[in-house]
Amino acid sequence: MDRLAPEQRSALMSRIRSTDTKPEFVVRRLLHGLGYRYVLHDRRLPGRPDLVFPSRGCVVQVQGCFWHAHGCSISPTPKSNTTYWSAKIQGNVRRDARNARALRALGWRLAVVWECQTKQRDLSSLTSRLTKFLG
Ligand SMILES: [Zn+2]
Repeated sequence: MDRLAPEQRSALMSRIRSTDTKPEFVVRRLLHGLGYRYVLHDRRLPGRPDLVFPSRGCVVQVQGCFWHAHGCSISPTPKSNTTYWSAKIQGNVRRDARNARALRALGWRLAVVWECQTKQRDLSSLTSRLTKFLG
């Protein structure tokens, strides 16, 4: 029984879809489906990493290509307000590096997943990299 009118249903479905394709959700769903369990955004750790695997001593950070300067094809250099954007992005990059150093200093192993890697049709190379990393 579908109690929603078709237009409500499609609005709901598009909302679900847009949430589910967020890079972090792609990674969460992938790893959860493989049986991994994790803590989200642990406040006690530097930078509140996206996924924390306490018993494995591992952290997975999912980063947007534009905001964290991946330099791939989906993170083009902005054509206007370049000073503003580059200052903002450079700030993110510095913070990423600082958090990564702090995590490693505490004995955590860190893997970064880029947004573009979650948008590929075939997630098998991402999957094998993460399963190798997590052990
Ligand atoms: Zn990228």
